[in-house]
Amino acid sequence: MGKALIIGAGGVASVVVHKCCQNSDVFEEICIASRTKSKCDALKEKLDGGKTKIQTAQVDANDVDALVRLIKQFKPDIVINVALPYQDLTIMDACLATKVDYVDTANYEPEDTAKFEYKWQWAYRDRFEKAGITALLGSGFDPGVTGVFSAYAQKHYFDSIHQIDILDANAGDHGYPFATNFNPEINIREVTAKGSYYENGKFIETDPMSIKTEYNFPQIGAKDIYLLHHEEMESLALNIKGIEKIRFWMTFSQNYLNHLQVLQNVGMTSIEPIEFEGKEIVPLQFLKAVLPDPASLGPRTKGKTNIGCIFQGVKDGKPVTYYVYNVCDHQECYREVGSQAISYTTGVPAMIGAAMVLTGKWKKPGVHNIEEFDPDPFMDALNQFGLPWHESFNPELID
Ligand code: NDP
Repeated sequence: MGKALIIGAGGVASVVVHKCCQNSDVFEEICIASRTKSKCDALKEKLDGGKTKIQTAQVDANDVDALVRLIKQFKPDIVINVALPYQDLTIMDACLATKVDYVDTANYEPEDTAKFEYKWQWAYRDRFEKAGITALLGSGFDPGVTGVFSAYAQKHYFDSIHQIDILDANAGDHGYPFATNFNPEINIREVTAKGSYYENGKFIETDPMSIKTEYNFPQIGAKDIYLLHHEEMESLALNIKGIEKIRFWMTFSQNYLNHLQVLQNVGMTSIEPIEFEGKEIVPLQFLKAVLPDPASLGPRTKGKTNIGCIFQGVKDGKPVTYYVYNVCDHQECYREVGSQAISYTTGVPAMIGAAMVLTGKWKKPGVHNIEEFDPDPFMDALNQFGLPWHESFNPELID
């Protein structure tokens, strides 16, 4: 069917590459391109010999000209951006210059401000539409599947959804005193930022980790959950009709929070550059260098994740509450693709989103968030490619 250029060769990219190879009818040929070519070559070596043809390349994704050269040479039908959020705009610029469709898993964030907002990428809407190309934003799990779940709930079970609670639980244990499950810099920026939730047309800011409760998750049990800001709330607030309130909750262990508190207290999570022995360093980037590489957590992590959404609203004049979620086992993911569940739950939807665009099901010129599309083929593909979902009515609610 087509050719995909995959940018990045980290934890998520590795899953995307495995899953493209499992879906070789759609992904006939892929090129894995990243800053460090040896990581791309290692992936190729692992997966070569199947039906999907694999090439590799070195590219600096901050360099639009280099990206354009690579795209012109490989001639992909779609670019799957699984590098870092800092590269979103340069990769979108290169897609515009070459008229190639685009998919990512995280919204653009300037390197010097921890601020997750879609405004920079939404500013490309007209240009993508005029160029006749599709940009699918946020096709990971959250954002990503959470938006698909929202569109699915809206399509099948509600006339109007009033409230969405997104719940992201990780009951995995990697055995280290402290490590982050994905890129530490992105992860720590996310959890040390102010929280926020959406209510009645506006976002209300909260102090970091200041709102906490407990939830009894199917298959993993009771966990402490904390209210965070999360990027999908911004687009869901616009795209889900009648929505009044959206909150995002994530589990953290007390041990994780204690470590983070100390690191914060001593200044190690700062993104302000400091001078050290004549060299400028960013404390958070230095911290990343000394923490375990998330890719190395795969073989050590045991336990499950549970990510899903609880919807409250109305159908035919009657109140409805509906919960849809996926449970993913870290060790099963590792056995299948050599990565833990955090990378797995992001990489599978990235491949599916790209397949939706490549097969024409979700081809729609412009820049779009995932909940704007028909959720049904994506929901089927989740079951097919390793992220089966479960649903229930009248679940336990969060106050
Ligand atoms: P990693 O840090 O493991 O991988 C990032 C990859 O991008 C690395 O291979 C890195 O290269 C490469 N890269 C970084 N900068 C450049 C550059 N300038 N040019 C080319 N390549 C570059 O991150 P993850 O795989 O964990 O995460 C990937 C993306 O997925 C991130 O954007 C993250 O925010 C997102 N994500 C989304 C989630 C969701 O549910 N929506 C959940 C988790 C992650 P090198 O190997 O040289 O460092």
